[in-house]
Amino acid sequence: MRFLVVGGGAREHAIGATLAQSGADIVVASANANPGLERLARSSLRVDPTDPRRVTEFGRAEGVDVAVIGPEAPLAAGVADALRDAQIPTVGPSKAAAQIESSKMFCRELLTQHAITAQPKWVAPETPEKVDAAAQGFGVPFVVKPSGLTAGKGVWVQGSDFTEPKDGAAYAKSILAQGGRVVLEERLEGEEFSLMAFVTDSGVYPMPAVQDFKRALEGNQGGNTGGMGSYSQRDHLLPFLPAADRDRAVGVLEAIAKALREEGLSYRGILYGGFMLTAEGPRLLECNARFGDPEGINVLTLYEHGDFAELLRGVATGRVEPNLVHFRLRSTVVKYVVPPGYGDRPRSGGLLAIDPGAITAAGVHLFYGSVEAAGPGAVRLGSSRGLALVGEASAIHEAGARVEAALRFVRGDYYVRHDIGTREDLARRWEHLRQLRAPGAKPSPLPLSVAPPDAPPSSAASPDLEIG
Ligand code: AMP
Repeated sequence: MRFLVVGGGAREHAIGATLAQSGADIVVASANANPGLERLARSSLRVDPTDPRRVTEFGRAEGVDVAVIGPEAPLAAGVADALRDAQIPTVGPSKAAAQIESSKMFCRELLTQHAITAQPKWVAPETPEKVDAAAQGFGVPFVVKPSGLTAGKGVWVQGSDFTEPKDGAAYAKSILAQGGRVVLEERLEGEEFSLMAFVTDSGVYPMPAVQDFKRALEGNQGGNTGGMGSYSQRDHLLPFLPAADRDRAVGVLEAIAKALREEGLSYRGILYGGFMLTAEGPRLLECNARFGDPEGINVLTLYEHGDFAELLRGVATGRVEPNLVHFRLRSTVVKYVVPPGYGDRPRSGGLLAIDPGAITAAGVHLFYGSVEAAGPGAVRLGSSRGLALVGEASAIHEAGARVEAALRFVRGDYYVRHDIGTREDLARRWEHLRQLRAPGAKPSPLPLSVAPPDAPPSSAASPDLEIG
C-alpha cells in the first residue's frame, strides 16, 4: 500500500515511520526536507502543504492508495476535500468538519447546540463594547482565545498571561481590531490531558490518554507553545486520571462525532480533545482535527507494529476493524529539543551533533522536526521544535530518565524541559488534583475517584504506585 504523508514535522516523521514498519510505501509532500522522512520516502515533493491542487496532483502522479494529513493548516485549507475529490481516500476531515479546530467559535457553538455540557462558560463578543461587558461580567478568572488557528500560542489565561480583566479585554479587542473573532471563557482549574480517537463512519476508537506540556519553560513558566513534551502511562490512563473520567472524556468525543454527523459533516480522521480534569470531571478546552504534536508521537510509538497501514486505510474508507486499534502497555515520555529562546525569540541556525545510533541503542526513538541535514551526524536547528526524543519503559519516570540519558548524544546549543516526566512533577500533579477533589475543597457532584496514595495500584494509581 502506498501512502502520501502531508507535512514535515516530527509528528509526520512518526506517522511515516509507523506506516513504514507496517510495510507501506511512503511519499511525502512538505515545505521542508525532514531528514527522517527523506530517508523513509520513496519520493518527496517540496511544496506548500496547504496547496490543495499541487498536493493532490502529486498524490495522483505517485499513485497513492491513501493520504494522511499531519498538520491542521492543510485541513483548514481544504486539502482533504481535494484529495477525496481525486478519489484518494484520506485520513483527515473536510475543511468544513475541520472547523472543529480552525474555529473555536464553531466548536463551542456545536457543543452548545447539541447540549454537550462538558465545556466552560463562554461568550464570543463581536464589538469592543461587548468585550468590556463580558470581561467585567465574568466574575471569575477568564481566558481569551483568538477563534482561528494560532499553533497553540494565542491563548491568554488570566493569572498567567494577564492579571486585570481590563488587560484581557484589551487583548481581546486587539484580536477584533485585526479582523479576527474572539472567545472569552471561564478559566478552569485542574489538570489537562489529551485524548485522541480514530473517527470514521463505523465509530470512535480511542487511543491512550496523554499529558502535554504547553508552557515553554520548566515549572510551566513562559508562554504557551505548540508543546514541549508529553507523557503517557502504561495502563493508558494518567497518574491523576482514573478510568471513569477517561471514559467520560471518550463520551464527549463520541458526542462530538455524533453532532458533526447530525450537521451533515462526515468525519474520517483523528479527533483530539484537549480536556481539563476539574473537580466536576473532564471539561473540553479545545478540539483538534489531527494527531497532537507531541501527543501523537507518544501513541504512535505505542502502536503494535504491523497493522497501521491497514488501520489508517480503514479510517480513510469509513470502516475500521476494532481489533486493529491496539497499543502496547508501556509508559512513554517525549521531550522536544528546541532552539534557545523558543516560545519567545527562537535563535535558529545552531548546529547540533547527534548520534542516532547511540540514541537508538539507548532504547530511545528519535524523530526529526524543524531541522535540516547538515552533513553526517549533524543537523541545523530551524526556528521551531527540532528533535523529538521518545523514551519508553514500565513507569513514566523511567521513560523520562531514558530520554535524559539519550540527550548526551545530542550536543550543541539547545533547550529542553528536563522536568517532563519526573517523579516530582507527576507527584505534584497528582496532589493538585487530590486537593481539588478533597471533600470541602469545592462542592463536587462526583464521588472521590482518585485513589489515596496508599491504595493498591488501580486504574487511578498515584505516581509512586505507577504500575510497572
Ligand atoms: P487551547 O488552544 O484552547 O487548548 O488553549 C491553550 C492552553 O491554554 C490550554 O492548553 C490551557 O493550558 C490553556 N487554556 C485554554 N482554555 C482554558 C480554560 N478555559 N481554562 C484554563 N486554561 C485554559
